Amino acid sequence: MENVSVLEERKDFILYKQNGCSGNGMRCDANSVSGAVSQRACVYCGARVVLNPITDAFHIVHGPIGCASYTWDIRGSLSSGEDLYRNSFSTDLRESDIIFGGEKRLTAAIEEIATKHQPKLIFVYATCIVGVIGDDVDAVCKTMSKKYQIRVIPVKSPGFSGNKSVGYKMACNAIMELIKSEKPAKRKGVNILGDFNLAGEMWIIKDYLKRIGISVISGFTGDSNYENLLESPAATLNVVQCAGSSTYLANRMEEEMGIPFIKVSFFGIEDTTSSLIRIAEALQDEEARQKAIAFTKEETSKITPLVERYKKNLTGKKAAIYVGGGFKAISLIRQFDFLGVETVVVGTQTGKKEDYDIIESLVSKDTVILDDANPAELEKFMKEKQADILVGGVKERPLAYKLGIAFCDHNHERKHPLSGFDGMINFVKEINGSINNPVWKYMEESL
Ligand code: SF4
Repeated sequence: MENVSVLEERKDFILYKQNGCSGNGMRCDANSVSGAVSQRACVYCGARVVLNPITDAFHIVHGPIGCASYTWDIRGSLSSGEDLYRNSFSTDLRESDIIFGGEKRLTAAIEEIATKHQPKLIFVYATCIVGVIGDDVDAVCKTMSKKYQIRVIPVKSPGFSGNKSVGYKMACNAIMELIKSEKPAKRKGVNILGDFNLAGEMWIIKDYLKRIGISVISGFTGDSNYENLLESPAATLNVVQCAGSSTYLANRMEEEMGIPFIKVSFFGIEDTTSSLIRIAEALQDEEARQKAIAFTKEETSKITPLVERYKKNLTGKKAAIYVGGGFKAISLIRQFDFLGVETVVVGTQTGKKEDYDIIESLVSKDTVILDDANPAELEKFMKEKQADILVGGVKERPLAYKLGIAFCDHNHERKHPLSGFDGMINFVKEINGSINNPVWKYMEESL
């Protein structure tokens, strides 16, 4: 595997950082190269990531059963109310449906849910095969919506219709479809976009905002529900955490509802501090700004002794990062920098040019930056750069373990929060526990 070479068509998506910033950038935000075995998920999965955490929504996956099982209960989004969202409903299309059409099965599935469960909101995901056979999902949803007086919203997400980013966009369109006609009275407060309440992270952010006197109107989509989402047009500011999945929604809400937005990140001390202060500034709320300064100072001083203790074990180590979006990669580079850990490989599934420009400005010379990587590339560059730890998600975990490299799960399956000051402690403990675990010594001996 040492000699694995990068596919010719993939070379433009990989960059070795040079002195300063090249300014030429690298290719990104494009469809995956055929045959490259991308780590990305499909369009449907991208849409499901965004919409799944709405706690009282029903999700009907119109397609073969496999598409539904792909996301069944593997997400760590928590709920303070309903837990319906943990289920997938599938039309389970078979061969005869593919030949004669699947609209009847979709109609039956919606009718079953409408009569048995009295839903307020149903999302219907069109998967690959539905895109091929051309079922009129829009028409079925419209008819059922009218018949049962509920919201039945189509999500156009055939897996082959683009990449995971397209799925995010389709989910944002579905959310806009839900909220665009709502006109609640305006009130001072924010919507949080792009936080999915993984291990309760939305609750941490809401608590911080409450402590500095800022109210949260709605959240997209962690621990949200139908009624709460309809309130979102009342907000005076949108704060966007996962920019990759939610900037499109923020743009539409700005254009169509006049709600401005700022991008934030609550990963790491530096980004959490600056995000809270910037939110107060964007709301032109001097009292909240002062409170944010005082609060972040106090929280930082509370966790500093523990972080400093672990820092001694980590300084001089090397990290590889491969995550979904650019905002998380940027925060992670800063977090590692703070801990004295050098980022030697960094990539994302759906980063944009502006994300990679920031990444390039943050990392040291010769760091490998790559977009839409595959396992062979990750293996090659982690070995070449002698990374001590990989930060990634469920698909990257086995790769790291097989190579005898420590791993930190920073994706949707994890069970502990990594955002805010509380999350920084969890992050440092996990990085330390994984990098300095004695098991790696035995791995080296047996490899
Ligand atoms: S939508 Fe297509 S690519 Fe996605 S899980 Fe279903 S069959 Fe696979």
